Amino acid sequence: MYDKIWQQAIIPLVTLNFGGDILAVNDTFVKLVGYSADELVGQHFEMVMDNGARFFFNSMLYPKLRMEKEIQEIYISIRTSTQEVRYVMFNAQITEPEHTIICFIVPVAQRMEYMKEIRSINKALEETLKEKTRLHEELIISNQTLKHYAEKDWLTKLYNRRVFLMKIEKIYEEYQQGGRVFSICILDVDNFKQVNDQYGHHVGDEVLIGLANEMRGFFDSSCTLARFGGEEFIILLPDQDKTAAYKKADLFRKRVKSQRWQGVSITISLGVNMVSYPSEISDIIVGADRSLYKAKRNGRDQVVLVDDL
Ligand code: GH3
Ligand code: MG
Ligand code: MG
Repeated sequence: MYDKIWQQAIIPLVTLNFGGDILAVNDTFVKLVGYSADELVGQHFEMVMDNGARFFFNSMLYPKLRMEKEIQEIYISIRTSTQEVRYVMFNAQITEPEHTIICFIVPVAQRMEYMKEIRSINKALEETLKEKTRLHEELIISNQTLKHYAEKDWLTKLYNRRVFLMKIEKIYEEYQQGGRVFSICILDVDNFKQVNDQYGHHVGDEVLIGLANEMRGFFDSSCTLARFGGEEFIILLPDQDKTAAYKKADLFRKRVKSQRWQGVSITISLGVNMVSYPSEISDIIVGADRSLYKAKRNGRDQVVLVDDL
């Protein structure tokens, strides 16, 4: 009776000895693997395993079985007589005192299909995520580049006029509220047309780059430096009153005079103005510009403070 139930059970069943040799198989197992019972009994269970399952069996399952007396729900693939792969859930138990291993093998084709599908979805998701991250990084770089070109002058890499005007407006509001002062200084290269005429436009460009670098090195990082027009630059000096700004401007004038770029030495004229509240920002700039104009009229290579007009 027991044998009949065993033989006809709807779950594939196999008994093995401790060496892994097949002692008995039921009808469902025979159907599953496609070998006859005669072909199977006496053979090693490896007969229905592929290499991966064999390795797994010898290195993991046998030791675990010996220690724990049973193993449950291990997913492996087995091979049929026609070398087809069947995914199965493998369970085994040691029966005492017979000292045999009884194996319950449940085909899980559906589940493996689901797992494969889940794996491929996960892979696709991972790839999408990777691509998204890459695009995001590219976008950040593009935005930084765009910002750079929108804010900086292409030749000198100083801020352009538009950004300077935005920054001065912001500082004006902030400083007015805090009761702080700032000064601005406009500088223009003297007789720059002659530099171009004498040495060429390219050398003229290099001189402007040299001058901009000199500005970056000379004025501390709290200052806002911008190219205001052709060979005209503007500097915002925070927390510096007109006297301090004048001194700083004059030191810079001397510094520039002592330099040479592409073998060319130049002088600059500068106009300085300090903020007064309330006033229009454009008035502050116009004041500095008028001082600059006066410096030019007075013979160039000098700094003029708005009060000296
Ligand atoms: P001043 O002392 O009165 O300022 O004389 P200036 O010759 O410097 O003045 P002007 O305004 O007559 O000439 C300015 C010159 O600056 C003319 C223009 O070609 C040159 N310039 C403007 N932008 C650039 C530039 O990006 N590169 C070069 N090489 N030259 C420039
Ligand atoms: Mg000039
Ligand atoms: Mg000019």
